[in-house]
Amino acid sequence: MITFIVALVILSIILLFCIARTYWSTKAIAGSVLRLLASSLLPILGNVILVAGQNPVLADAGYIIYFVGTDVMLLFLLRYVLLYCGYEHVHLSILVSVYSLYSLDCLALVCNPLFHHVFSTRQITLPSGLIYYQLVSDWYHYLHLVLTLLLVLSIFLILLHKLFTSPKIYRERYLVILFSMLVVFLWEAYYILANIPIDMSMIGYIACGVLIYYFSIEYVPYYLMDRMLSNIVSHLSDGLLFYDEGGNCIYANDSAYHLFHLKEKRLETLRQLVESTIGSDWPLPDNTLCSRRVDAGNQELTLEFSMRSLYDKRHLLIGSFINIQDRTEEERRLSLERYLATHDKLTGLYNADYFYQCAEKLLRDNPEREYLMIGSDIKEFKLINDIYGNRTGDAILVKLARTIDHYATGESVYGRLDNDRFGLLMPKDHFSEELFVEGSKTVPYVEADMNFPIVIHVGVYEIKDRSLSVQIMMDRAFLAIAGIKNDLEKRVGYYTDQIRDDILWEQRISGTLEEALRNGDVVPYLQAQIGAGGKVEGAEVLVRWNHVSEGFLSPARFIPILEKNGMIVNMDRYIWEYACKILAHWKSLGRTDLYLSVNISPKDFYFLNIYETFVDLVEKYRLDPRSLRLEITETIIISDIKHRLQTIMKLREYGFILEMDDFGSGYSSLSMLKDLPIDILKIDMKFLYQTQAPQRGRTILDLIIKLAKELDMPVIAEGVETAEQVEFLTEMGCDMFQGFYFAKPIPLDAFEQNNHIGS
Ligand code: C2E
Ligand code: CA
Ligand code: CA
Repeated sequence: MITFIVALVILSIILLFCIARTYWSTKAIAGSVLRLLASSLLPILGNVILVAGQNPVLADAGYIIYFVGTDVMLLFLLRYVLLYCGYEHVHLSILVSVYSLYSLDCLALVCNPLFHHVFSTRQITLPSGLIYYQLVSDWYHYLHLVLTLLLVLSIFLILLHKLFTSPKIYRERYLVILFSMLVVFLWEAYYILANIPIDMSMIGYIACGVLIYYFSIEYVPYYLMDRMLSNIVSHLSDGLLFYDEGGNCIYANDSAYHLFHLKEKRLETLRQLVESTIGSDWPLPDNTLCSRRVDAGNQELTLEFSMRSLYDKRHLLIGSFINIQDRTEEERRLSLERYLATHDKLTGLYNADYFYQCAEKLLRDNPEREYLMIGSDIKEFKLINDIYGNRTGDAILVKLARTIDHYATGESVYGRLDNDRFGLLMPKDHFSEELFVEGSKTVPYVEADMNFPIVIHVGVYEIKDRSLSVQIMMDRAFLAIAGIKNDLEKRVGYYTDQIRDDILWEQRISGTLEEALRNGDVVPYLQAQIGAGGKVEGAEVLVRWNHVSEGFLSPARFIPILEKNGMIVNMDRYIWEYACKILAHWKSLGRTDLYLSVNISPKDFYFLNIYETFVDLVEKYRLDPRSLRLEITETIIISDIKHRLQTIMKLREYGFILEMDDFGSGYSSLSMLKDLPIDILKIDMKFLYQTQAPQRGRTILDLIIKLAKELDMPVIAEGVETAEQVEFLTEMGCDMFQGFYFAKPIPLDAFEQNNHIGS
């Protein structure tokens, strides 16, 4: 008896210790464990009071505390088991019903002193001499036992269910609790059934409590973790090889065999393979990576090896492992990215950035060698794209890229710079113009039905100044192309500083036009046109530019530039309006006898509605259209003939007089006469006198004038410089003259003065 109490006390102290540990635990389940452990003290307390009380009243109280305590403890056990098994979301109504039922049971138990419906006691003396109050059950006690049994059964069922539905590695957790509870239950049942006075099963209660405490609070599932880790290791996509502290290979996972294409899992074979692959770097120092290409069946893999040593808490070597990662995909992706970042998608040549990078390197690596920077450009490529579609355009680019590939020598670098422009850096002694011309001729007709000749222009810059950036060198190569201009035969152009200066000049001229027009730097000069009697009948308006930085410019210097970029339109409109203002002014002075004739460039027809422009002008200034003569050249009807003839016709119908300028300079002037509805022919003496045989020129002049007479067309001879010219022209029947012999082009006020206008 004494030993029982002592054992009980010791175990209670252990239990109290567990309670304290649980109290400080931060685990989610700790609260539930704490309540369970604390509640398990109740039946123990009841038992101690019953045994140690030696008095009938205390014995009654002890029994009641014992019964009620068991209820409370079992309810907490139920709650704990639900949590432990992960069934915490049991329907609330079930819990409420269970708690209510057992609260009623507790109430019934507490009421025993009033009704004696649960038990009464009978005093017996134990062999040891101690008094013990034995329980005499009444009907309610049996009911209480049934209720208790139901609760215990449900707890068992919950644990059993969990046991059979969990993965194997978890079963241990449930099995231990289930088993210890089973032992306690059987032990307790034995005491109850045998009605033995001293309930040793209390010891079981405590032991079970300690187990619950241990598994819920203290237990670290190493076994479980080991199982999980080894599971992870064997399923890892990385290959792993483990070595013990003596350097013996002890394990390799599936991936390691797989990466080395080994079907049979022979650890020694794998180890040898891995170590020989790492080769001279074996054994790898800790935390260093080494990459190797490995032949795995029908493909080559890129594997990355790393090695790590493992130490325990005392820094003693436990072993090491090799980690093998398959980097093949990554490597492939990287090299694809590298390729895309450095190559042109369409042609597969280097892109501009990479070409320049490589060109720079080639020049840097060969400081003594002479190089050429070469650019190529397809003439009218945009037009080809427009007419034949982008697919044909692309096909031409690809073909050109192949040609460059074919002709470029090993010591060159080349790439596609943008659109239709390619770049090539080549040693000077590898270059030959013939080869380039030949190469460019292999590209032309990509499609059978294509009748658009593809002209490839090549610009060459001989690298003299190494301090220039490769981009500027390339710019110079392209300036050389710009220098080819409209030379139809020329395919290869060479950079000179003159070309650069010309282009800079062009840029300067185009860039300052707008401002010059605003500032009045662009002015009309007038050159008189003389009638048969030596009388001034009108004048041709000839533009002059008093340029801010370049000085006085004659049209030959800037008109071709403005014609090339289309800015001629702005200048011409300005001059035409100027001419109208002059005419309006003369008209206001009563001088309607004089006319002005203005020049129209073929580009004006391209960008402007010529008919509307001139009609608007004469209407705005209220002029007789006959006073504004229009000079056109035969080149205007080289393209869009039908439409332009219509315009000319409409202008004449409106009343304008149209002059054919520079007649005799073109190739087909005579045949042109029958198509072009024109009022007056202007014949430039210059063209006839350029020929080697002046007599022939004179014959032609004679014929033209006769032909004009035949067609009833007046003729103006321009460029007349001598009295002799005037004489034979008059003889031939020429009506009018314009030339230095009579007057040079002069400013407006000088012209007005000479002709007594406004004075
Ligand atoms: P053009 O229309 O054939 O004009 C006649 C050119 O011959 C003028 O040159 C004039 O100065 C020059 N000239 C006149 N008499 C003689 C002579 O006896 N001997 C020589 N050697 N030359 C003579 P300019 O003014 O330099 O104009 C050159 C060309 O520029 C013009 O040739 C015309 O095509 C163009 N041009 C001039 N002004 C304009 C304009 O306002 N608009 C357009 N689109 N072109 C213009
Ligand atoms: Ca003219
Ligand atoms: Ca002319």
